[in-house]
Amino acid sequence: PEDSALLDIDEDDVEDRPYVPAPPVLAIIGRPNVGKSTLLNRIIQSREAVVEDVPGVTRDRVSYPAEWNGRDFTLVDTGGWEADAKGLHKRVAEQAELAVDEADAVVFVLDGLVGATAVDEAVVKMLRRKKKPVLLVANKIDSNAHMSEVYPLWNLGMGEPFPVSALHGTGTGDLLDAALKHLPKTAQHGGMVPLGGPRRVALVGRPNVGKSSLLNKLAGADRVVVDKVAGTTRDPVDELIQLGGEEWTFVDTAGIRRRQHMASGSEYYAMLRTQRALERAEVAVILLSVEEPVSEQDVRIVQMALDSGRAVVLAFNKWDLLDDERRYYLEREIERDLAHIAWAPRVNVSALTGWHKDRLAPALQRSLQNWEQRIPTGRFNAFLGELVAAHPHPVRGGKQPRILFGTQPSTRPPTFVLFTTGFLDPGYRRFIIRRLRETFDFSGTPIQVQMRVRE
Ligand code: GDP
Ligand code: GDP
Repeated sequence: PEDSALLDIDEDDVEDRPYVPAPPVLAIIGRPNVGKSTLLNRIIQSREAVVEDVPGVTRDRVSYPAEWNGRDFTLVDTGGWEADAKGLHKRVAEQAELAVDEADAVVFVLDGLVGATAVDEAVVKMLRRKKKPVLLVANKIDSNAHMSEVYPLWNLGMGEPFPVSALHGTGTGDLLDAALKHLPKTAQHGGMVPLGGPRRVALVGRPNVGKSSLLNKLAGADRVVVDKVAGTTRDPVDELIQLGGEEWTFVDTAGIRRRQHMASGSEYYAMLRTQRALERAEVAVILLSVEEPVSEQDVRIVQMALDSGRAVVLAFNKWDLLDDERRYYLEREIERDLAHIAWAPRVNVSALTGWHKDRLAPALQRSLQNWEQRIPTGRFNAFLGELVAAHPHPVRGGKQPRILFGTQPSTRPPTFVLFTTGFLDPGYRRFIIRRLRETFDFSGTPIQVQMRVRE
């Protein structure tokens, strides 16, 4: 029978990404040099050293997936907390407070040999205000001889102090047992996360359009979470950034931030890096600058994104520089040079002021949703039936190719297969794609249409 060839197509060839609640969050807080990083490394059992001997004031917040007794949680490292801090210290302190706000429980680390300092007392005050479960850790208790140092810490009124040697790994088991008792099953402020990790975003665009500025704006406002886990060395390659209540992995941000290399590298290397980022991502933010005309290099990057089959969002940066005249020409340039990607969601932003930066997440979500959209076979054939009835394929050399049947075997991006009695004109294929976009919401995703010709 006609339809037997359909068996060739794997209808289940879809990678669905179910969403699950985020695991609970445990934040590690304490003044610089008490051993927070050492403890963190101990808990995630990473051989990779994130410990530095300089007080951790320049560190941004870092988040790691962790597990204890079969339960997943997220461990959040904070820079040192200091009362009355100024400048950079103040920023780090603010980040620590932010971390506490978003955590489900807090591990408060003290240097057990030093005892509670004035700064520690200030941390206690701050923690009291937050009303989160707190586990008090007396670190650097490397031997039983030091145990007597621990008892005075009861006076802080934070409950039982846990004697720990992060260096030797003693006491951490009891600490984690207790921490898990305080942690809910899922994060209170975590929202839903896609199974398989956060969505992967490539921020691409020619040099100077404002990629690193935008990255800073997006990461800085809420928080920066640097992902050093996934087999990378000291240099973080990707960054976790919170946008629209969801966490996103911005891939290959190291290349964006390391500007001096960009400047010395040829355009070829820039293109290579773009390619690599696209390959690792699910969705691309193509950044253009409204300051200058849409260039050949912009168009080439758009084409690379389209060829990669990823979901896309077009972002026009430096909107703060736009005047009426430039705006007039910009719209013309978009019509002329970017017509083939007119279906992409468009966001106008200013990385400088942060204007419209909150529009990015909804656009990303929409593109990704459509990238994974599946039209049921029955619905697709009803669509094809109506389309062919109203606009039959033109007769070519006395023959008229017919569409027998269609199906969508895969998503990411949506891919359709048409079974036909002859080759369809490219124009007719484009017409089908156009109608698909008009009928279903495929904004933000390329669409592929393949043919299987039966003679
Ligand atoms: P952070 O600034 O709070 O993250 O502190 P670090 O983890 O960077 O540690 C500061 C210093 O204390 C480092 O030199 C560590 O080796 C040392 N340290 C951390 N934990 C222990 C411990 O349990 N015992 C001893 N003796 N030293 C420790
Ligand atoms: P990249 O090479 O794409 O990473 O671009 P940069 O982020 O380094 O930005 C290039 C230049 O454009 C810098 O001088 C930025 O300050 C500037 N810039 C970036 N975004 C904006 C913006 O939204 N408005 C204005 N006026 N300038 C911007």
